[in-house]
Amino acid sequence: MAKRERTERRIEERAAKKLVRDREKLAALVPGGSQEHPIEVSSAAVIEVRIGSMPCPQCEGEYRVIDHRFEGAGHRAVDVACRLCGTKRTLWFRIVVDEPN
Ligand SMILES: [Zn+2]
Repeated sequence: MAKRERTERRIEERAAKKLVRDREKLAALVPGGSQEHPIEVSSAAVIEVRIGSMPCPQCEGEYRVIDHRFEGAGHRAVDVACRLCGTKRTLWFRIVVDEPN
């Protein structure tokens, strides 16, 4: 009996870890999840507004901005952490200036 409970707990833990990994994988695919797929914004001032509207993929909590990093022309990496579950993430932005055609 005790052995079966341990086995079940192990299976549950493994499933929970897989779920966390799957959510992280999905988060990397959406815009902002990687340098290759940045969120395009019209100015740096918009970045924090956008972050405020993005829920944590793990718990849907709000992000707190830790650091802005300048990653070359127009590229910003913003380190954030979830206020609820503490998950840290880097969000990628590209500042696109509207140029007249
Ligand atoms: Zn969270």
